[in-house]
Amino acid sequence: MNRNIPDPESEIRALLRANIRNIVPYSTARDDCQARMDIYLDANENPFDSGVNRYPSPHQPQLKRMLSAIRKVPASNIFLGNGSDEPIDLVFRLFCPPGNSSMIQAVPTYGMYSVAAAINDVDVIDAPLSADFSLDADDLLSRVRSDTRLIFLCSPNNPSGNLLDRDAIVRILDTFSGITVIDEAYIDFAGSSSFTELLDRYPRLIVLQTLSKAWGMAGLRIGMAIAHSYIVDIMSRVKYPYNISILNQEKAAEVLSDPLAAADRVEELVGERKRMTEALAVLPEVEKVYPSDANFLLVRFRDKDKAFAELIKAGIIVRDRSSAYNCSGCLRITIGTPEENDKLLEVLGGAVVGHGSPVSPGNRTASVFRKTGETQVCVRMDLDMFRPPRIATGLHFLDHMLEQIGYHARIALDVICFGDLETDDHHSVEDVAIALGDCLYSALGDKAGIGRYGFSLPMDEAEATVLIDLGGRIDFQWNVDFRGGYVGDVSVQMFPHFFKSLSEHLKCNLHIKACGQNDHHVIEGVFKAFARALKQAVARIPDSHDVPSSKGWL
Ligand SMILES: *Cc1c(COP(=O)(O)O)cnc(C)c1O
Repeated sequence: MNRNIPDPESEIRALLRANIRNIVPYSTARDDCQARMDIYLDANENPFDSGVNRYPSPHQPQLKRMLSAIRKVPASNIFLGNGSDEPIDLVFRLFCPPGNSSMIQAVPTYGMYSVAAAINDVDVIDAPLSADFSLDADDLLSRVRSDTRLIFLCSPNNPSGNLLDRDAIVRILDTFSGITVIDEAYIDFAGSSSFTELLDRYPRLIVLQTLSKAWGMAGLRIGMAIAHSYIVDIMSRVKYPYNISILNQEKAAEVLSDPLAAADRVEELVGERKRMTEALAVLPEVEKVYPSDANFLLVRFRDKDKAFAELIKAGIIVRDRSSAYNCSGCLRITIGTPEENDKLLEVLGGAVVGHGSPVSPGNRTASVFRKTGETQVCVRMDLDMFRPPRIATGLHFLDHMLEQIGYHARIALDVICFGDLETDDHHSVEDVAIALGDCLYSALGDKAGIGRYGFSLPMDEAEATVLIDLGGRIDFQWNVDFRGGYVGDVSVQMFPHFFKSLSEHLKCNLHIKACGQNDHHVIEGVFKAFARALKQAVARIPDSHDVPSSKGWL
């Protein structure tokens, strides 16, 4: 190995405070003994069951498994804390010798970074964002001192609401040799990809996310640090052993099990953000509404004290951010429910303009929820409209293939699966196929006016032929050769199984033939060709309301 390029672990290790490097965590008997026991007499707990008489799981494996599927990062890269406050404090404790180090934050920004710095006796260096709150990487980097251990960036930024420029952040990651923390508390409102995608390239990057905002669980106090597994490991050694209570873990798992409901609420809030941005901008009292990628708006008023007082009188509290850098005259207004937002507009003398009414669904929609001992799958679709698919199965390659179905069939498709991936991919792939088949079958309803047949020919440099007949008879033919055992994280044996289960539950004839040099391209060709064939078969033929069969039913 080139001695000038240390491996990521030694690189991180060199940045840790000396006393943290060899810290031995508080160990529990249950950490030491992984097998499931019948009788627990190791922790001086009270044996009588009250639901909370046992200590919680110290490493929250169930929550991490779910978040791993949803966030598409391995569970070993996820640390869970008591709110984001805990990982914010931990990065100081891990990397900053008290009284002898500094951190840089891009201001105006979230107040907790400097509070945690003060508690840990770390100097704070402010790097100003520009007047439109954009990040000047070179200016920030010019402020790095020899004792600077951390850079905090918040994107979308609080209180300004904007995403920071991706290239500017990458420039900092490429240049700064300490730890860079990117706080993505509001990333779900931004419609932009997370920096977790770059963790492999930047092992000194820590991404913070939270269940407090888009997920609607502020009361549970659960925040995440997503980082190199070595950083996660050290954070886990330093944290309080039982930092997330049983009740909080259980409630979080319950809410996370329906990520599509959370996604719907985020969509609604993003619609309201647009409506409020427009409605506030035309008020005579408003000087400027800053563009927001988050669930709040920074608004500059001609007289912010007057606006604040009027709102208080009406029982509405917003946040006065006028003392923050470059924020004079500004209030920060969280996006509420449509009714709450109307009330705020009314108090400020605005016209209540129509709510961005959600796109009304067509009648060929369906959702299927399927739960077995091994998996829990939710599939939703609308055959008559398209929007980008929302897919999370815990299997990256399957996610990618299901996205192809959404994009190439031009349907709205959401698929969430929490499965027993610690065993293997079998149940997850099979149960997703079953639920997808059931959902398509149900969305098609009486099949009136549809094309019924679909066929599709060469795809990419690999050739894939998919023939489909939604006539109701089941026949499955598979003629595809693979060269290897896996494509990505899915075993190739599972692909015929996937389409067979799908054809049985969609009740269709499905004939698939494909060949090519590269397994990835072959199977991608199969999924795209399937999607194209499906698109033809489910498409409504204009002015045709009959069932496309000489028998009158399908
Ligand atoms: C709200 C918020 C958080 C979330 O904090 P929790 O402790 O997880 O509730 C983190 N960072 C920023 C910038 C926030 O605005």
